[in-house]
Amino acid sequence: MSLSLDRLDRFARHIVLPEIGGAGQVALARKHLVLVGLGGIGSPALQYLAAAGIGRLTLVDDDKVDISNLQRQTLYNERDVGHGKAISAKRWIKLFDPALDVEISDRRIDPSRAAALVEGAHLVLDGTDNFATRLAVSDACVKAGVPLLSAAVGRFQGQVGAFAGHLQGEACYRCFVGDAFDAEDCDTCAEDGMLGAMAGWVGSFAALQAVRILLEDVSGFGDPQWSRVNLLDGIQPGMRQFTIAKDPACKGCGSGT
Ligand SMILES: [Zn+2]
Repeated sequence: MSLSLDRLDRFARHIVLPEIGGAGQVALARKHLVLVGLGGIGSPALQYLAAAGIGRLTLVDDDKVDISNLQRQTLYNERDVGHGKAISAKRWIKLFDPALDVEISDRRIDPSRAAALVEGAHLVLDGTDNFATRLAVSDACVKAGVPLLSAAVGRFQGQVGAFAGHLQGEACYRCFVGDAFDAEDCDTCAEDGMLGAMAGWVGSFAALQAVRILLEDVSGFGDPQWSRVNLLDGIQPGMRQFTIAKDPACKGCGSGT
């Protein structure tokens, strides 16, 4: 597979980067990414992932666009208010780059539905705001052998972690947060408030990490940083990183399964 002339032009600034190059750009065009959650994180993440030329995208969200979303969910405009986020996001992609292959799901994720959605993907990026969904997605990823990039934001703190619990010695998202949240379905965003650009920072950093993971075997962009979580602080601006140990008794990836 080679890139057509107009695709070479479109991705010229990627292709001149030794960390991506022509081989990396061709690889991205062959990748399938599942994006769960098209809100404050998923919206800017999707814009950068689509712009990066990731060839196949599955977009998952059961919510509708509300006027209060426009303060941070940069994908949408006033015309989308009242329409589904998934169909609105697909409409945006079709205008932005019709060459990308887009599927959507606008139904709420539960454990049985999560398995079908992540099957065969190269990477899942989860930017949803409730733990029940996040844990269902994580468990499905481990079972299907699909890596998971998990991103979250609250007030002025964000976190982005890369998980490959299906690999020996690597943690899954459940190793990180434990089982206590299985039944919890909280939408803290409405209560806590959030600076729009903070969600944008977390979402665009998640997109950067997603490209890194998708190019793991293709270029010298660095390792995928499995089992590591980055904390992004917007009050005292900076980032720090820590490593999550695999829990041998984990219900998602260990002996507790
Ligand atoms: Zn685990």
